[in-house]
Amino acid sequence: SQTISPLSAPAAPDGERRAIRNVIDGEHVDGVRTFPKINPVDGTVIADVHEAGREHVDRAVAAARTALDGPWGRMSTADRARLMRRAADMIDRRSAELVAAEVGDTGKPVALARDLDVARASANFRSFADTGSAAGLDSYLTELPDGRKALNYAVRKPLGVVAVIVPWNLPLLLLTWKLAPALISGNTVVIKPSEDTPSSATLLAEILLEAGVPAGVVNVVHGFGPDSAGEMLTTHPGIDGVTFTGESSTGSAIMRAVAPRVRPVSFELGGKNAAVVFADADLDAAIAGLARSTYLNTGQVCLCTERIYVERSVFADVADGLAEQANRLRLGRPENPATTTGPLISRTHRDKVLSYYELAIEEGAELLAGGGIPTLGDGLDDGSWIQPTLWTGLDNTSRTVREEVFGPAAALIPFDSEDEAVALANDTEYGLAAVTWTSDLSRGHRVAQRMRVGMSWVNTWYLRDLRSPFGGTGLSGIGREGGMHSMAFYTEPTNVCVQL
Ligand code: NAD
Repeated sequence: SQTISPLSAPAAPDGERRAIRNVIDGEHVDGVRTFPKINPVDGTVIADVHEAGREHVDRAVAAARTALDGPWGRMSTADRARLMRRAADMIDRRSAELVAAEVGDTGKPVALARDLDVARASANFRSFADTGSAAGLDSYLTELPDGRKALNYAVRKPLGVVAVIVPWNLPLLLLTWKLAPALISGNTVVIKPSEDTPSSATLLAEILLEAGVPAGVVNVVHGFGPDSAGEMLTTHPGIDGVTFTGESSTGSAIMRAVAPRVRPVSFELGGKNAAVVFADADLDAAIAGLARSTYLNTGQVCLCTERIYVERSVFADVADGLAEQANRLRLGRPENPATTTGPLISRTHRDKVLSYYELAIEEGAELLAGGGIPTLGDGLDDGSWIQPTLWTGLDNTSRTVREEVFGPAAALIPFDSEDEAVALANDTEYGLAAVTWTSDLSRGHRVAQRMRVGMSWVNTWYLRDLRSPFGGTGLSGIGREGGMHSMAFYTEPTNVCVQL
């Protein structure tokens, strides 16, 4: 098969652009048309992406079905685990290529792509190779009233052909988080990466083929959501389930798409995450932690903090400290080791984030940092840059504090009591993540447990054990993935009952 070249260079020589094709049944396949992939660092077109049409989605689903019924379906878990560990080693060996793909698509700093995105990709494969190998079966010896017995035991089978639909913010990390448990469980997949980040998924599909995963087990179709590959995949009668990460409104559209055929879904959706800082917290640690949870990846992590509730007696200290951290962030080229913060993913997304920057001011916000578009020079001003931003003067009734912005911005709001802090944090339709900063041990546990979210951190943020449940409540999702929670989604148990 052809291989795509690393995407660190903005364009191929002679103005010729790289082509990113669909991967179907182990082959690179042209689409019905192409669309440009724009580098958000400087606005240049770096690749032409082949958009899949209905015939390509049909072929990908058919290839996945055939592979499910072939040697992959009969392979032992131990052999699949061996393949996945080999894939993890290859991801580590080809880390530089994957980093280049991720950086070219997103503009994020090289160190972030290497240490977060690509490091987690191989960790995901290793973790689920272990989890899948250790997964046990339920069995019960049933004692009947007449003295006879029956043996009940459950066998796990793959869910089948799984549609994997992922967003652009942590493309490879979020893809492998779903792909690894799907594969160790024996499923076959059709992946629809985000139209904004087509590169790393394509490269990963090649790596998996090279590792020995049979053709047709992992297919990639490129394109958009509505009237494109995303919708064609989720409405396809040949898929057995959808695992999706992205916006809550897209999750809702996908639920409608699968409703007529009643397919299972696993949804990791949006957030409007709160952090709560008590006066007894280690304020230096809290401010450093808040800077990370608000601005990492230019605020484009579903777990990022967008609402910060601070106990009134330390409000000014936290506001000053965090504003100083925001102003210290360095926007710049991803290759520059001094760069802390990349651009937003696209001009379209910047328009959305900027509309919230304007709305915040209309709603009465006072700016402590940022608030607009920076002038950077150095050929960057055609990119999708935005200033890290911090507001005060808003409350929970404002749209800025209720709606997901998904950019490097947060609102600081004071509180006077623990009950009030919990009530403010829980006053949201979302329910993904929360952080509590306190040095009172009991309060830390108490408040963390009262948060109506899937993940509640105390004195840290985004510290992950891949065996623990991950997901959200309310608008933030359906179901949990991670460790055995993932195995539960990606397998269908059949209970066998034998009269003894
Ligand atoms: P998005 O919902 O716009 O797109 C996600 C994917 O869905 C893309 O591949 C897109 O092409 C596809 N899609 C869009 N419409 C579709 C449709 N009608 N049918 C089928 N597929 C469709 O999300 P995004 O803008 O790429 O990502 C940002 C969002 O993702 C934010 O809301 C963020 O909070 C969320 N997110 C959540 C988690 C989590 O774990 N909970 C993690 C990362 C991101």
